[in-house]
Amino acid sequence: MKAPYIKEEHEILRRSLRKFLDKEAYPYFDEWEKQGGIPRTFWQKLGKNGYLCPWLDEEYGGFEADFGYSVVINEELEKVGTGLIGIGLHNDIVVPYLHAYGTKDQKKKWLPKCTTGELITAIAMTEPGAGSDLASIRTTAVNSDGHYILNGEKTFITNGVHADLIVVVCKTDPKASPVHKGISLMIVEKDTPGFKRGKKLDKIGLHSQDTSELIFEDAKVPVENLLGQEGQGFYYLMNQLQQERLIVGIGAIAACERMLDLTVEYVKERQAFGKTIASFQNTQFTLAELQTEVEIGRTFLDRTIEAHMNGEDVVKEVSMAKWWTTDLVKKVAMSCMHLHGGYGYMEEYEIARRFRDAPVTAIYAGSNEIMKSIIAKKMGLL
Ligand SMILES: Cc1cc2nc3c(=O)[nH]c(=O)nc-3n(C[C@H](O)[C@H](O)[C@H](O)COP(=O)(O)OP(=O)(O)OC[C@H]3O[C@@H](n4cnc5c(N)ncnc54)[C@H](O)[C@@H]3O)c2cc1C
Repeated sequence: MKAPYIKEEHEILRRSLRKFLDKEAYPYFDEWEKQGGIPRTFWQKLGKNGYLCPWLDEEYGGFEADFGYSVVINEELEKVGTGLIGIGLHNDIVVPYLHAYGTKDQKKKWLPKCTTGELITAIAMTEPGAGSDLASIRTTAVNSDGHYILNGEKTFITNGVHADLIVVVCKTDPKASPVHKGISLMIVEKDTPGFKRGKKLDKIGLHSQDTSELIFEDAKVPVENLLGQEGQGFYYLMNQLQQERLIVGIGAIAACERMLDLTVEYVKERQAFGKTIASFQNTQFTLAELQTEVEIGRTFLDRTIEAHMNGEDVVKEVSMAKWWTTDLVKKVAMSCMHLHGGYGYMEEYEIARRFRDAPVTAIYAGSNEIMKSIIAKKMGLL
């Protein structure tokens, strides 16, 4: 079933992006996984071909593409590998903050470079002592003499090694009550005095995605780099996190579809007891059940995407889609790896990488327990 928001122009984009990725990504992806990063030249090629933030206004280098284009781009990148998640994060998660809350000058200064790949962006919420409980972050920004003096530490930051521009969540009023009213967003540029990168983190999966710690020691951030208004950061996050969670769901379903394709192909080839693995009823039932769940997931996700595109309040649906699709991707990864037998545990088979990459989707962008708490709240249970 084709999603209702997918029109001929989206299919055209999909075909051209596939061609681009066949040439520029698939042949190199294993190498990027080994090296632990994707080259900046790949970002620039994406930019040159119009795949970075196509939704931006023309004056900033975009072509005002609707969210259907973002869906297609995220799906096709996911098919290459979940390690490309940093591109979707830049396109559909971080740059939208600059666009939604930036001043005219901020937008003019940064957005055009976000579409060319000259600037790679990141968002830094999580700290060593605060992840799910965002309001308890300790990074502070004190306004002094034309600058904010930023102190604190962030961790697990996607694009953390390469980012040129980072939206940093901090407290401009640590004494605010309730505490979330003291939270603001600050844009930190890579050459900011007092800002340095910490360790590049050694993850069990997403090897081509650079994830790192960020350290701010009396970092001098010009006051013009405040994003939006002081004290509004938490509300901005709550608004933008919906699209972030949708992006994670889109990736999860695309990964499920890819794993099912890989596994169907494998079990039709591999033989045991004089038959194909596909001919065993267990294989058929397992794959039939997973295919059903993936199609149910896609249908719900597509409905939620459509509602999001129509500007509806989808907080509950996005939370549902995020936890359900990312639980599903873990289940699909486990079953599909199992159906590959011992080969599924070997790195030379793509399913092994998919198995490593899947679980984190249930943790980042708000863990699945946090999603269920949001749903429970919407149901009037807390
Ligand atoms: C690869 C990767 C990339 C990431 N990228 C980014 C990024 O770009 N920017 C960024 O800011 N962060 C990023 N994160 C951080 C991510 O968002 C956090 O890891 C996540 O929000 C969970 O926070 P935590 O790790 O501190 O876990 P904790 O908050 O300590 O949670 C630990 C466990 O307790 C559960 N738990 C917590 N609170 C509750 C509750 N109220 N009820 C029930 N269970 C609960 C959680 O679900 C989890 O299972 C990334 C993380 C990873 C692993």
